Amino acid sequence: MKLGTKLIHAGVTPDPSTGAIMTPIFQTSTYVQSAPGQHKGYEYARTQNPTRDALQNALAAIENGKFGISFGSGLAATDAVMKLLNPGDEVIASNDLYGGTYRIFTKIFERYGIKFHFAGMQDAQNIRNYINANTKLIWIETPTNPLLNIIDIAACAQIAGEHNLLLAVDNTFASPYLQNPLDLGANIVVHSATKYLGGHSDVVHGAIIVKDEELAKQLYFIQNSCGAVPGPQDCFLVLRGLKTLHVRMQRHCENGAAVAHFLRQHAKVEKVYWCGFQDHPNHDIAKKQMRGYGGMISFTLKDDSIEAATKVLSGTHLFSLAESLGGVESLIGHPASMTHASIPREERISNGLVDSLIRLSVGIEDADDLIADLSKAIG
Ligand SMILES: *Cc1c(COP(=O)(O)O)cnc(C)c1O
Repeated sequence: MKLGTKLIHAGVTPDPSTGAIMTPIFQTSTYVQSAPGQHKGYEYARTQNPTRDALQNALAAIENGKFGISFGSGLAATDAVMKLLNPGDEVIASNDLYGGTYRIFTKIFERYGIKFHFAGMQDAQNIRNYINANTKLIWIETPTNPLLNIIDIAACAQIAGEHNLLLAVDNTFASPYLQNPLDLGANIVVHSATKYLGGHSDVVHGAIIVKDEELAKQLYFIQNSCGAVPGPQDCFLVLRGLKTLHVRMQRHCENGAAVAHFLRQHAKVEKVYWCGFQDHPNHDIAKKQMRGYGGMISFTLKDDSIEAATKVLSGTHLFSLAESLGGVESLIGHPASMTHASIPREERISNGLVDSLIRLSVGIEDADDLIADLSKAIG
């Protein structure tokens, strides 16, 4: 089955008691047993919920995995992956991560004795410099936020395989429409379903997808033991969002390309970051591992000042000034004062996050209207 068909049909069957075509929201905490130990496979709703089961099966199918494990947020999913590790274990993570991921690694898991190395991975071979006898996991995100760098997933998987390490890929930015890390040799896929999978900016949710049964058993054990489970209504919303992922992503890609090309020829724009440009430093890898380039774009202004950026950020009407991404509506953000404000200015600038850097999550409105909105705001 192809992705569009899976998105609509995988994991779901009409409700056996009524024929309802949509998976019901099983808003219950427990299930009645006919005699002690005699039940229908459901005992207590932290452990199992039919709405969650449907979503987990759909998630497994669309990432070409075998097991989906759902959580109350993307970071709860990340938390569960880290709980596979023991004190003394080491992780090699890319140095260009979602801020919340960097925070949970350094502020929470370092306290529990896990050691993190943050490595530049645009040349995956650099990972080798950090491997030692304690290394257990490689963690990457591609494309990265907000500079849209690309990491070669297959090259990372090759290195992980040689050293018997797990490779985890945060696939939030690409979504399974654009890339399937498990097919490229990754062991674990993580999603913030809050973004493209949910797609409507109305739910916070996270997921892990794996192929390996032993790994799945450990992750279900962590899900049940630690309890960061999603509610059934949130599972329903993600399940509904999935049904249009392919149609939305197609438009995100088309609009992303139109906006990227518009910005690139604009006299007041200095640089546009978008992995679809042929002169993007890792375009060849993007082309190899992705099926399109998505709707995430960043750009800088020739007048590299907070004031110039502020003028653009407060001048758009269709692009709303907000954190997050991946919804149907377009968003605009300023990493220097929003998502990356906690990084000291010098360090931020040396990483390319200059004062005028603006990030767009291009939505699925009509491209002409989006371009007119940006054109007016940039001036
Ligand atoms: C938003 C995000 C997360 C965290 O997900 P939440 O659902 O907000 O907990 C992790 N990784 C990436 C790339 C994200 O964009």
